[in-house]
Amino acid sequence: MYDVAIIGAGPTGSYVAYQTQKAGLKTIVIEEHPSIGEPSFCAGIVGKEVFERLEIPEDAIQNRVKSLVLHSPDGDKVNLVSKNVSAYIIDRIYFDRQIAHLAIDQGTSFLTSTRCTNVSVGNGDVKITLATSPLSETEIKAKVCVLAAGAYYGLHKRLGLSVPRQFLDCSQTEVETNEPMKSIEIYFGNTVAPGSFAWVVPVDSNRVRLGLSTKRNSALHLSNFLSRKELKRKIKNKKPILRRRIIPIDTIDRTYTERLIVVGDSAGQVKPITGGGIFYGLLCAKGASDTIISAFKKKDFSLRHFKNYELRWKKLIGLELSVGRFVRRFISSLTDENLNTLVSTFKKDMKIRNILEKSKAFDWHKDVILSLLRTPSLSGKIYKKLLGNIFKGADEHA
Ligand SMILES: Cc1cc2nc3c(=O)[nH]c(=O)nc-3n(C[C@H](O)[C@H](O)[C@H](O)COP(=O)(O)OP(=O)(O)OC[C@H]3O[C@@H](n4cnc5c(N)ncnc54)[C@H](O)[C@@H]3O)c2cc1C
Repeated sequence: MYDVAIIGAGPTGSYVAYQTQKAGLKTIVIEEHPSIGEPSFCAGIVGKEVFERLEIPEDAIQNRVKSLVLHSPDGDKVNLVSKNVSAYIIDRIYFDRQIAHLAIDQGTSFLTSTRCTNVSVGNGDVKITLATSPLSETEIKAKVCVLAAGAYYGLHKRLGLSVPRQFLDCSQTEVETNEPMKSIEIYFGNTVAPGSFAWVVPVDSNRVRLGLSTKRNSALHLSNFLSRKELKRKIKNKKPILRRRIIPIDTIDRTYTERLIVVGDSAGQVKPITGGGIFYGLLCAKGASDTIISAFKKKDFSLRHFKNYELRWKKLIGLELSVGRFVRRFISSLTDENLNTLVSTFKKDMKIRNILEKSKAFDWHKDVILSLLRTPSLSGKIYKKLLGNIFKGADEHA
């Protein structure tokens, strides 16, 4: 019998394993893929708190970026330059393996090429069914189970858990470039990425990650985006391989049961504005391991005890997620004309540029948004018009 069994060896699953094994709990991680971190879908953008607050070594950093360019649908752009590094670009495969190694060094067992097909919570344990092939199933038992399976929701319903209500459809590719690119570039527009945005992320001096999120048909939109003249000229690969995946932008209703915790993308702990889930997922993974460690200390595996996990993470990021969801709805309701106005306002208004360029809070959007809303050029005529769109959108969704 294991103390803790974790489904999924992404950053959140391995981080919980690292903490629980370090506390002396016999921990196992089950991963369906043969190789941890692969296949990788991520743009790899994180803030410095991932390393500072969660004490993860910085070896996975590939690039440090100071500038962000926002492109409007009509071709206008605004370049926002920070004095210090504002974003770190990481090698996600290396990053995931690095966290897994932190757990392995503490003594955690990892079972790769093994898919969890069922989880059943009993009175004194959790039974976890594992398949190494369609014909071969075994069962392991643990006192506590952590669902860290990413944006896969096949096990949720069987456990009586809900699934996120909103997702972004994302596609991405990594390509070589003919010329170095230094900034993260964001493209808005309802023909580029309806309701969301496209990104170009400089990985190193001659490689970029190009991707986009939208409500549907992300692969088609990305193919169209890649055929834009200014990008075609810069990209070496003529037929890049696109990878497609969903990102949840809404949390599940309850992230725990007796003896079980849901963490990371499986719980929807993702920044709704950008779709970034690494930092919030890891913060929640720390909260998950603290709750599990205290359950073993108190010998209390009840629903009431595991509720503490949800209280913990909501206290940390709950308000950020609510504000983020509001802004995401706002952005997705904007017409191209609104987006043009927004980018040109950002460009002209020094106060707005100052707020954006001086913001040190890469992972915390609420305060920046509140500061932006207090600037006269946004809270005036344009702001009212844009706000009208939100309520129109809300009525349509009701
Ligand atoms: C295109 C794209 C770009 C992104 N860019 C960024 C970014 O720049 N910055 C950022 O912060 N976030 C980004 N994200 C989001 C980020 O990738 C996720 O938030 C993060 O990976 C969540 O970590 P996780 O540990 O919860 O899940 P995952 O990393 O998805 O790990 C879950 C693991 O569980 C395994 N698994 C699933 N089901 C089972 C099962 N039944 N049995 C066994 N194993 C199973 C999977 O194989 C996987 O290895 C991006 C996402 C996408 C799609």
